[in-house]
Amino acid sequence: MDVADIIEDSMKVVSQAAADRDITVERHGPAHLAIEADRRALKQIFLNLLANAVKFTRDSGRVDVHVSRLRGQVKIAIKDTGIGIAETDIGKLGRPFEQVENQFSKSHQGSGLGLAISRALVELHGGTLQIKSREGQGTTVTCTLPTRAAAPDEEAPLAKSA
Ligand code: ADP
Repeated sequence: MDVADIIEDSMKVVSQAAADRDITVERHGPAHLAIEADRRALKQIFLNLLANAVKFTRDSGRVDVHVSRLRGQVKIAIKDTGIGIAETDIGKLGRPFEQVENQFSKSHQGSGLGLAISRALVELHGGTLQIKSREGQGTTVTCTLPTRAAAPDEEAPLAKSA
């Protein structure tokens, strides 16, 4: 499937929420990028990450999605100019139901599951999800996904039951 296409679709879903608050959302990189992956899972990942990026960015801010290819992998970095996450809190995120207390999370609905689900789906594709952030300056969440799905015999063997 085409990753760029799925990102465009996900951007459309958040476009109204972004426009309402004068937030610019832009995609950068190749117009098409083929990858072997589950379409529904990728859509879920990008929707979660883009929704967070818009939710935690102040009015008139920016969200930039940088897509690039490197040695059998596709890198998708979602960079916002939002409120950021304190260094001490970054480690906690991605665990189920974990939320960081700040002025936005108090006033915004959320379950604390979005990042945990996104990380799990990325890892099930053999990829990684990395969060870099600076309080008051913004957050970049980077997904790295292999362009080709691992063949079943390349996967780690399942634990044998006794
Ligand atoms: P929720 O459904 O609560 O948004 P997530 O797992 O997606 O759950 O996010 C957990 C918490 O991580 C959020 O409540 C917020 O505190 C923080 N967070 C996630 N993405 C961002 C971001 N782009 N900028 C700042 N904080 C973020």
